[in-house]
Amino acid sequence: MEKGKIDVTTENIFPIIKKFLYSDHEIFLRELISNAVDATQKLKAMASMGDYKEELGDLTIRVSLDKKKKTLTVSDFGIGMSAEEIDKYINQIAFSSAEDFLEKYKNQANSIIGHFGLGFYSSFMVSKKVEIVSKSCKGESPAVKWTCDGTPDYTLDEAKRDRRGTDVILHFDKESEEFADESRIEGILKKHCRFLPVPIAFGKETEWKDGKSVETGEDKIINDTNPLWTRKPVDLKDEDYQKFYHDLYPMVEDPLFNIHLNVDYPFNLTGILYFPKIRNNFEIQKNKIQLYCNQVFVTDSVEGIVPEFLTLLHGVIDSPDIPLNVSRSYLQSDSNVKKIASHITKKVADRLQEIFKNDREQFEKKWDDLKVFIEYGMMTEEKFYDQISKIALYKNTEGKYFTFEEYETLIKENQKDKNGTLVYLYTTNKEEQFSFIESARAKGYDVLMMDGYLDTHFINHVESKLKNSHFVRVDSDVIDKLIMKEEKRESKLSEQHQNELSQVFKSQLPGDQSHFSVVFESLDESDSPVVITQSEYMRRMKDMSQLGGPASFYGNLPDHFTMVVNANHPLVQKVNEDKEKKCRKDLDKYDEKIKPIEDNKKEIEEANKGKKDEEIPQADKDRITDLDKKVKEFSDKKNEVLSGFGSKYKLVKQLIDIALLSNNMLKGEDLNRFIKRSIELL
Ligand code: ADP
Repeated sequence: MEKGKIDVTTENIFPIIKKFLYSDHEIFLRELISNAVDATQKLKAMASMGDYKEELGDLTIRVSLDKKKKTLTVSDFGIGMSAEEIDKYINQIAFSSAEDFLEKYKNQANSIIGHFGLGFYSSFMVSKKVEIVSKSCKGESPAVKWTCDGTPDYTLDEAKRDRRGTDVILHFDKESEEFADESRIEGILKKHCRFLPVPIAFGKETEWKDGKSVETGEDKIINDTNPLWTRKPVDLKDEDYQKFYHDLYPMVEDPLFNIHLNVDYPFNLTGILYFPKIRNNFEIQKNKIQLYCNQVFVTDSVEGIVPEFLTLLHGVIDSPDIPLNVSRSYLQSDSNVKKIASHITKKVADRLQEIFKNDREQFEKKWDDLKVFIEYGMMTEEKFYDQISKIALYKNTEGKYFTFEEYETLIKENQKDKNGTLVYLYTTNKEEQFSFIESARAKGYDVLMMDGYLDTHFINHVESKLKNSHFVRVDSDVIDKLIMKEEKRESKLSEQHQNELSQVFKSQLPGDQSHFSVVFESLDESDSPVVITQSEYMRRMKDMSQLGGPASFYGNLPDHFTMVVNANHPLVQKVNEDKEKKCRKDLDKYDEKIKPIEDNKKEIEEANKGKKDEEIPQADKDRITDLDKKVKEFSDKKNEVLSGFGSKYKLVKQLIDIALLSNNMLKGEDLNRFIKRSIELL
């Protein structure tokens, strides 16, 4: 029997392994199984080259648990190791300044373990003693047993083992006894080893017999050695992709599309990505892509490896070329990783283009579900925008789909305003904005549906790409103002009447009047008498700040609305006539008083025309202030007359309520009163 010291430069690495690598203890099993798989693959390679001539036999890797003894054994039938090889590969660990390094990376067990070939030694994270029993496939070298109890001292002895291969036997330490549990081990195997290329047996299959679950005697193989992504796309059917998807993600809806990745130059990459059905709650769906390195599961947090928007996809990526055992910041700056990311982006765009070209109907059918994903991609990846903008779709209120270009052609003639700006009309809610949509359509305009989660942001983004174009929501103004044409209609109300009526309408505004401004527009007689609109800009800022955009200042502002009164509508004319009948006398009385004051004011102003402020006599200035005060006094009186008239006038209230109602803004008690009043008026 040989005794020796494991060759490390620091006094003792085991306490360090235990102390610092604790964050992810379960990976010890992944490391052991990976070694077993490597040893098996190497043997197969040797056999295929003719360097190993004996019978390969069953190569299944076996994992067995002894719950009483608290041991776990991983057995493989791969190349095995001779005494010399154990000395070379296990005893001499290339490991310098271990302590410094571990101190620095103590939170990244993964990085150190792979980096320093510490794979096997990670078993000491959970074991008080580890044994290796191995028999080399080469020549007649005898089987050997290596034992180490967590100090740098080991023993190496002859042992009995008939077939070539290796057993690694872990004796769990006290703190790690949780691992001496079948379901725990099975869970770890399923997570990390599910798609390894060599069969792994753990326990026996069970079946139901006489109402009980009993073992069948058949090995339970926990992995799929030939997962879908390693197979050729030509051999696979849609059903295969669907099935694989549901194996990976039970309990979710069918995916929309899949992409089979298969690259061997300038890097190696295989995988299958799925477009899941995502709608509004996409945040929770992130981190569903699983990353594999030669079929060994590595991680399911892929940020930095694939572009942000692709993290919404599901599926697997397998590449031996992604440096897996390094820190995230290193990953993000790695040029290989960057190439991979842009390649995947391109593949995704290609696939979408292919579907669009070959089966537009299908593409349109799935568009509503795809949309969030595509918009997200277009906003965050410049390249993706360029690739996709030819096939991205708009949907209009009739449910028809158009590419950006098709849509531009559709509205180009009709929806240009007098300055040549192309106006895209959109709605975020077909029901609530119904009357606005109708008046737009009555003009022959088309209205887009923009009711998606990201649409407010997306509209901004698209606008920044288009020339001479902008988007406005149909209810952000009356249609004649949204797309302003050359011709201007005469107003049937003089400015004076408009000012007076404005006061009449104000007297019946709901709630806080400062949230409304009243304006008069000369619309068509057949247009609505009163319309309530909300400025596109303000609303967009508010919407964006609600989504956590940059404009949180706007989020806190109260809503502000404009009440547009149609000066040409017969009912508005009637209000004006009634106002004349009831109030003219009183109004004239005050106007007569105001007139001389204004004349007086004009005289003074005329006399001081062209003078600088400091040259105007103080007496004149005081006089003007005085006159203004008087005018205001009489104007207030006038307004009182108008408000008094307006606030008792049911027709005005009714007109305003109808406008509120068509904006879905008339609720509760106000709605109830409106209904009662309507019945009375009938
Ligand atoms: P790595 O696997 O990263 O090289 P390890 O510490 O896990 O580092 O293993 C060191 C070496 O020991 C391996 O490269 C391999 O040569 C040898 N080895 C480990 N496990 C086995 C095994 N089950 N069969 C044959 N050789 C093994």
